Amino acid sequence: MRPTSTPSPTSERRFSGHPVSPGIGIGPVHEAREPALHVSTAKITPAAVAAELERLEAALERSRHQLNKLKHRLATLPEDSQAEIAPLMDMYLHMLSSTRLLRGVRVRIQEGLLCAEAAVQTETEAQAAVIMAQQVTDKAGRLRRADEVRELGRRVVRNLTRQPFRNFANLPMGSILGAESLRPSDAALIQPARFAGIFTAEGGADGHTAVMLRALGLPAVLGAEGTLAGTAPGTIAIIDGDTGEIILNPVLASLEAARRKLAEQTRIKRSLARLQRLPSVTRCGLAVQLQANLELPFELPMIASSGAHGIGLLRSEFIFMNRETLPDEDTQARIYTSIVEAMDGDPVTIRVLDWGSDKEVEALARYQPAVLEPNPALGLRGIRLLLRHQAILETQLAAIIRAGAAGPVRIMLPMVSLAAEVVEARACLQRVWRRLKRRRNILLPDTLPPLGIMVETPASALAAPVLAKYADFFAIGTNDLTMYTLAADRALPAGSKLYDPLEPAVLRLIHLTATFAQAAGIPVSLCGELASRPQAVPLLLGLGIRQLSMHGNAIPRVKQAIRGTTLAACEVLAERALQAESADGVRNILASATAT
Ligand code: PEP
Ligand code: MG
Repeated sequence: MRPTSTPSPTSERRFSGHPVSPGIGIGPVHEAREPALHVSTAKITPAAVAAELERLEAALERSRHQLNKLKHRLATLPEDSQAEIAPLMDMYLHMLSSTRLLRGVRVRIQEGLLCAEAAVQTETEAQAAVIMAQQVTDKAGRLRRADEVRELGRRVVRNLTRQPFRNFANLPMGSILGAESLRPSDAALIQPARFAGIFTAEGGADGHTAVMLRALGLPAVLGAEGTLAGTAPGTIAIIDGDTGEIILNPVLASLEAARRKLAEQTRIKRSLARLQRLPSVTRCGLAVQLQANLELPFELPMIASSGAHGIGLLRSEFIFMNRETLPDEDTQARIYTSIVEAMDGDPVTIRVLDWGSDKEVEALARYQPAVLEPNPALGLRGIRLLLRHQAILETQLAAIIRAGAAGPVRIMLPMVSLAAEVVEARACLQRVWRRLKRRRNILLPDTLPPLGIMVETPASALAAPVLAKYADFFAIGTNDLTMYTLAADRALPAGSKLYDPLEPAVLRLIHLTATFAQAAGIPVSLCGELASRPQAVPLLLGLGIRQLSMHGNAIPRVKQAIRGTTLAACEVLAERALQAESADGVRNILASATAT
């Protein structure tokens, strides 16, 4: 992103970047520079191989020690940051144990006679190149994974060569932290209380770093290109984490406007915190159930304190990721049981592995079709793949049933488009249930958990009356439903305008599904990102939704929207939105309703 005015060191200068963490930050800019990394390319003699391998082992040990220390430090960070960074630390630690990466490095020392730092650098680059060449996943995901491998390599090289790491602790209190770029593990070292805000010149809106910074709760803007050039340490800056604007050397009027905004945000934050204990009901007394989506187990404490009544969507993919083999039944049962126990009697809806398309699971690579599909999102994904490989489904179903002995669970199938898929999955569930009952030494619930489906294809929404005969509940996944309805990739950049869950066509499918579910007498919830948009929530109630599941952070604002409306107002809104001709039309209707 480019500066929006001509630079001059002392006049006000404005820049824009990706707003990644909301809030206003005001303070002096101080840059946290990454010390340059020098890597020797020296060759060694065969006689020096053993000593070089020893140097490598010592550096690996130091790297493990640092990562474990970082993991311990996570306990002092907000829970969201833990959720984001801990699995990453685990993955780094895993890569430092017995993976391809280390085998490759050792071979480069032993057979290529490279010194250890050159071996680490060339091997990490080679592995990053292999990741980038894989065609099965989206480019952003590949870039992220390649960066992670490189980052780990840099850590090992710094430890091998004793070159210093970046230091954030010596920057003055209350600073705005500026950096060319930040990695997630850098973000884990930042004490939020020390800084007023953060910006970088490089970096996108949806990487790990962005999520980490959001979780730290500091106003942050990433990718504000040119901001650091010619900026003297101590230059006063305003960061607007809601709009992505950065103002350097602000004039008095800009400073006063920022201070007013900051005071208003502080007031709103306090009133949201009070909402946690209040019930989720409209002004006319209609109760709306709010549940949380869980992507990583570290989110559990945050969910428990968010005011959520259960987990409406447990994305079980995390259990299968970053490992070379599939998790067995006992491992899965332990994980599900601990989550069910932590929810203390509130229901947990566990979605079986939604794998394929952009959701990559390394350990399952061998189950992917031999010939790459030209349109993976339209090919073997979710329940389609699981029905092809029923042993994987059976193992997961058995583990979920066993977790049902610890509290209420529901089983959910992803990417359903045909009733036959539900029938086949239910037959599989019955088979697993019969088998489990023959086993001794395992705890089982009295009855089978309910089996429901994600409604995330137009076919499943349109066929809802038939699907309701075979499914015990529906959960509308607006992320995919929007993608498949509009034939627009959900990973498209925000400005593309093609992918928009507020398109009336998508709203009609939500309305149809809610109406059919109600007629069939089965529960229906909505668990796509749309559920977390407070402005859209009255519309969803008007469309017939009474149960919403979202990221735990979003619950207070959504509850506030529910408590500020009535069912009658929601129904008028929905009626008007269904008549609108475009998503922009719907947005105008929502905006005018909020303004009145
Ligand atoms: C959805 O598609 O809306 C959904 C909740 O599932 P996911 O985002 O995991 O595909
Ligand atoms: Mg989905």
